[in-house]
Amino acid sequence: RPSFSDLKNAIRTIPDHPAPGILFRDITTLLGDARAFRRAVDELVQPFAGLKIAKIAGIEARGFILGGAVAHQLSAGFVPVRKKGKLPFQTVSMPYSLEYGSDEIEVHKDAVSPGERVLLVDDLVATGGTAEAAVKLLSSLGAEVVAACFIVDLPDLGGADKVRRLGVPVRTLVSFE
Ligand code: 5GP
Repeated sequence: RPSFSDLKNAIRTIPDHPAPGILFRDITTLLGDARAFRRAVDELVQPFAGLKIAKIAGIEARGFILGGAVAHQLSAGFVPVRKKGKLPFQTVSMPYSLEYGSDEIEVHKDAVSPGERVLLVDDLVATGGTAEAAVKLLSSLGAEVVAACFIVDLPDLGGADKVRRLGVPVRTLVSFE
């Protein structure tokens, strides 16, 4: 694949955030760069134009920013996948494990319909726990998760492969080893 070095260079790295020893990949610098933001969205959607994607599911919170732009580009609807307790209507939820403890994501129970073709969007895949939970949640409502796309992959953590093992193709643009 192309290296997208311009996109990679637009991402800032913050050492020891949110905890000592963690290198946080900060995409706000990419979002603030007009050319990089447009390029990232164009490249994310490139394989999916013409695939009749009905809905984009964006994962809170940076997946909302990218997902809104991707939805507009593909003329698709947008579905927020949120942390527990944020959505106002009836929800379905899916727990997932974190390094310490667990968390839960939710969608409105009528956010997708059986058979609807959905593209999952987030900024970064690390362990893949969040994306896996989102795929399972959307699938439990009968949606067909056509693919998952992320700007950043951390391949050492194996998350993209975890999502692929669910039968969901994964597109990422840049990797940090
Ligand atoms: P995972 O569930 O794959 O371990 O973690 C991915 C989720 O955590 C994504 O929603 C992503 O936004 C967030 N995340 C984890 N590490 C980073 C990071 O270094 N940079 C950014 N921007 N997000 C991260």
